[in-house]
Formats: sequence, C-alpha cells, structure tokens
Amino acid sequence: MRTSLVITHAVVITMDGSRPLIDDGAVAVSGNRIVDVDRTDDLLARHDPTDMLDAQGAVLLPGLINTHIHSLASVIRGSADDIPMDLWLTAYLKPAQRILTSDEAYLFSALTYAEAVKSGTTCCLDMDGYSRRRADAAIAIGVRTILAPSVSDRTEMAFESYEENEQLIVERNGHINQLAKVWFGIEYLPNSTPALYERVRKGAAKYSVGIHTHAGDSNEVRHALQTYGKSTVELYADWGILGANVVLAHCINLTEKEIDLLGRTGTHVAHCPQANMKLAMGIAPIPELMQAGVNVSLGTDGSAEGSSIDMLETMKFAAHLHKVSKLDPTALGASQILEMATLNGARALGMERELGSIEIGKKADMILMNLDQLRYAPRRDKHLPSLLSRIVYAGHSDDIQTAIIDGQVVMRDRVLLTIDEEQLMRTAEEQFSKFATRLREVSPYRGTFI
Ligand SMILES: [Zn+2]
Repeated sequence: MRTSLVITHAVVITMDGSRPLIDDGAVAVSGNRIVDVDRTDDLLARHDPTDMLDAQGAVLLPGLINTHIHSLASVIRGSADDIPMDLWLTAYLKPAQRILTSDEAYLFSALTYAEAVKSGTTCCLDMDGYSRRRADAAIAIGVRTILAPSVSDRTEMAFESYEENEQLIVERNGHINQLAKVWFGIEYLPNSTPALYERVRKGAAKYSVGIHTHAGDSNEVRHALQTYGKSTVELYADWGILGANVVLAHCINLTEKEIDLLGRTGTHVAHCPQANMKLAMGIAPIPELMQAGVNVSLGTDGSAEGSSIDMLETMKFAAHLHKVSKLDPTALGASQILEMATLNGARALGMERELGSIEIGKKADMILMNLDQLRYAPRRDKHLPSLLSRIVYAGHSDDIQTAIIDGQVVMRDRVLLTIDEEQLMRTAEEQFSKFATRLREVSPYRGTFI
C-alpha cells in the first residue's frame, strides 16, 4: 500500500484498550490519517512509504490535548507574579488585554503554539481575543486548535462580541484548512449577562459547535450567589449551558449538587492544576467529579496564569495535587492521568473518533518521546505500567523529539519545521519592549511590575 509516512521501531503506547502496547511497533500514515498499526516487520511488508521515520526505540504516544489555554497570555508571562489575584487581574491582565494589537496577537499566539508543540501538545482549546489572528498563527505553526473567542456583552469590557464569534464560526468551520476550528466562548460570568448565555446556547445548537467558558473560581461563585442567588453550575443548568458540547475550565468550588449536575448532563471539565496552585485558587474536586462520571481533561490555562503550558508538567501536577490533597497515593494513577491528557481531551472536544489514541482511522496526531535518558533509567519497555509511571512522574518535555500533527511532521529531532524558532523569540523580545512601554502608561500601578 502506498502511504505518505511510516514510523518504525517505536515502543507504541496506543491508548487503545485492545492492544495498548506494541514493542518494536510501527504506524503508517496516509494523508492526515493513521492507516495501519502493527509490529515493524509485519507493517513494512504491507507498505511502501514516501517518507520513513526511524524512532530508534523512542516511545510513540498520541499527541497531548490541552483543553484550556489562553495563547495571548504569553505577552505578560512572568511579569506580575506573587501578587493577589484581584490586583493581578485589574492592574495587569486587563490593561494588557486592552492595549494588545492585532499583530502582537499573532506574534504571541505563535510563540505559545510553538512552545506547545515543543512540549508535546498537538491540539488545544484556546480561549482568547483576536481569534482570526490566532487561527492564522495556529495554521502557520501547524498545531490543531479549537478557538473559543473571549466573548463578553458588557460594553466596558474589551473582548469579541457574539456577532464576531458567530461570523467566525461561519467563516472558519467551512474553511479548507480544518486545523483551526471555532466554538462559542464566553469569557467569564461577571463580565456577561444572561442574555448572552441564551444567544450562545441557541447559536451552539444552530451551528453544532461546542461552548467553552470558565466556571467555579471563588470570585465568580461569589458574583453568582450575590447577583442570581445560585452558584455557577446551577445557574448554567437553569440557562441550558450544560451538556456534552460544553467544556468548563477550572470547576474548583462546586457543591455536591453541582458535581451531580455535571455528571448527569455529560458536561466536560478542563482541570488546570498548575494555574490553580500558582494563583492559590483552590483544589478542584477531581476524584469526586470522576466518581460522578464527569469526563475530566487537562488544561494549562495561559502562560501568565500558570507560567507554563507544558502538558507533561500539568500531568504530574494533576497527579501529585490530588494524591496530597487526599493523603492517598492511589487518588489518581499514571494511567488515568495519561488518559486525561489524550482520550478525555478528545472526548471533551467531541473528537473521540478522530483523536486521543493511535488507532486505524484516527487523525495522525502523535509524538515521539526519547526515554533513553538517565532520568528514566533503567528502562523497561515491555512493561506498560512502568513506562506510564516514567512518562507521568519523571517525564520532561525536552525529551519530546518529534511531533506529527494532521499527518505532517511539525517538529523533527526538536526542530520546528514550520517556523524559525530563534527568529520568533527575537521578534517577541523586541515587540515585548514596545508593549511594556505602552502597558506602563495605562496600568494604574505603573512601574510596580514591569
Ligand atoms: Zn482561563
């Protein structure tokens, strides 16, 4: 069979229950789809590929799926940490969002997407402004993205409108390049009215797209209780904003009733342990959500919030956070964590038939990880639990060698093939100096942080 790419001699962790581990395995790709998965000798007898990639014993995994990120946040990463969250939002994040230009949005989202691919992410659910420019950047880098605009209908807030979100869905979801698709996004309950939720609910049904929003941080729950007399998830239930096409980020402060509501409605949760810990937001009841049947995926939040968009770090933080919070090392295991970062992410995006595992017929989104390093020694390739433990608890993203997205090799041997990484960093440095000068002028706390 004529195929475009065959990856050979890999330890394949498929995340496919029927054949979870293939030692000396191979995967054949035709176009953007996986067309064969088998042992290398058997598979090569059936294929005549245009391109061969010898994994030399590296581990081949499904690409990691980040279900909550803000790609523009890289513009202020590391500039205002270790301060109270209210101050960070009002003095820094909001002024930064107001002055960011369209060209800066392209540049800093490209920076984020490049970093994401280098740390093993092949697909992300990205909530932010300047969605057209983010789509351009995602396609330029070659990362699969679902864009959720940060929509708000309170006029004093500088985000995209419902009309812009709808227009973008019409334009992009029929676009020839399907790498960047669009959902409805609502930024934050305190910045929106019930009328917006109603329009989004109807719009999502009309266009058969998902809805992404934040839920359950303490400020927002306080606002919900004071304004509407109900907590957020109960409110969303009343407004019809729960269901299998909805991904809620964070979900930290939930009542038992709300956990039950999320489970019964099939609503997905994007758990962001690193940002939740760094901003002292609290501990999401993840074991309880899973117990209630909720599909929990993993997100990093923006790189201003958590400082890192590294999904391997997020995987480790998720495991450790719930082990220590429950004082129970069995609270979340390595196998569950990798499922959250792959299969559960695919489910959250409604793409479980397309993504999340290495199976015939799925999209070719995969990463190669080199475990031939001191930090993984001694290796035990034929023992799946031991491999998963090494990846989740000892894994380092510098060991992600190669990333294949939609059948294209986007990174090979740590080199991004779609963009000049050095040039991208230099341009971002130059642009940041100009941006910081403008930010100092508008921030009420100018000079304090930057
Ligand atoms: Zn967020």
